[in-house]
Amino acid sequence: MKKRDYYEVLGVSKEASEADIKKAYRRLARKLHPDVNPGDKNSQKKFQEVQEAYDVLREGDKRRAYDRFGHAGPSMGFDPAGGGPRAPGGAGGGAGSSPFETFQFDPADLGDIFGNFFGAGAGRSRGREQGEDVTGSIEIPFRDAVLGGFASLSLRREKECSRCGGKGRIGRETCPACHGSGRVAEAETVKIRIPEGTENGGTIRIPGKGSDGSRGGSSGDLYVTVRVTPHPYFERLGDDIHGVVPVTVKEAYAGAEIDVPTVHGLRRARIPPGSQGRQKFRLRGQGAKNPRTGQTGDHIYTIRVLVPKTVTPAGVDAATLLDSLYDGPVRADLPKGL
Ligand SMILES: [Zn+2]
Repeated sequence: MKKRDYYEVLGVSKEASEADIKKAYRRLARKLHPDVNPGDKNSQKKFQEVQEAYDVLREGDKRRAYDRFGHAGPSMGFDPAGGGPRAPGGAGGGAGSSPFETFQFDPADLGDIFGNFFGAGAGRSRGREQGEDVTGSIEIPFRDAVLGGFASLSLRREKECSRCGGKGRIGRETCPACHGSGRVAEAETVKIRIPEGTENGGTIRIPGKGSDGSRGGSSGDLYVTVRVTPHPYFERLGDDIHGVVPVTVKEAYAGAEIDVPTVHGLRRARIPPGSQGRQKFRLRGQGAKNPRTGQTGDHIYTIRVLVPKTVTPAGVDAATLLDSLYDGPVRADLPKGL
C-alpha cells in the first residue's frame, strides 16, 4: 500500500507550524487512540499512521528530510535510531506480529494525550501525575433535588493498567492490555449523594472519582452537572418554591383556613377576607434549602378563585348581592384601546 503524505495524514499544510502539527496530532490521537476504539482495526491503523506522521513532522531535521526526500527521507540515514519510523531504545522496526510492535509509543506523548483526554493538560513530567478531573451529568427528580437523595452515574474511568502496572510494557513487549499507554478505561457506576437543595444546573464534586493518577499520583475528581426534572406542580425560583392553590369564592371573600401543599408536606394557612384571585401569599421557611448558604427559602402560593360551573337562580341571586358590594366599576382603570 502506498504511504500517504504525512501532512495529509495530519490534515495540515506544508507550511504548518510546530504548534499546528502538535495540535492536529493531539486531536487525531484522541479520536483514534486504541483505548477509545477498542477492537477497531481501522482506527488502530489510522492511529499508527498518525503517530508515524507526527514522529517525523514534529522534529525539524526529520521534517526537513521528509520535505526533501519524501518517505525515504527520515528513515534513510536521518533517523538516529535507524530502522522503523521511530524506535526509542532501538526496540522498534522489524518483524512484529502485533501492529503495535513495529511502532513504539513515546510515553511522554501518551501522557500528553491522556492528560488532555478529559480536560486540562498535564505536564510532560514522567514523575507522579495527578489524575485528570472528569465531568459527567445526571438528571434527578425534583423531590431528590429539594430534599436530598442518591443517584448513580455510569461512566468510563481512566485507570492505570493493572497488567503492566502503568508502564505500558511488559519486559520489552508492548502491554497487550493497554497497547502501551499504561492506561485503560473501565466502566464504573458511581453512587452520588445529592445534597438537600441542589439546584438545576448545579455541580456536585465527588473527590477521587476522576481519572486515576499515574505512578502513584492521586486521582482527579468527578464533577457532575445536575439537571432537575421539572415538577408538574411545584416550581423552584431561587430558593423559593411556588405553587397555585384554588379557593372558592366564599373562601376568598370571607377568608378561610386552607391546606397548602409545600415540598415539606401540607401546611395550614389562612387567607384573609377579601383576598383577590392571583394574590400571592408566603409561608416562611417552607421552600428549598440553599446548599451554599444553608438558608431555607419560602413557599409562595398564588390563589386562584374558582367560580362554580353549576349555575342556579339562587346562585345568581347570591352573585348579584356580591356584585353590589364592589367599590366601583371593576374595569374602570382599563384603557379604551391602544
Ligand atoms: Zn498495560
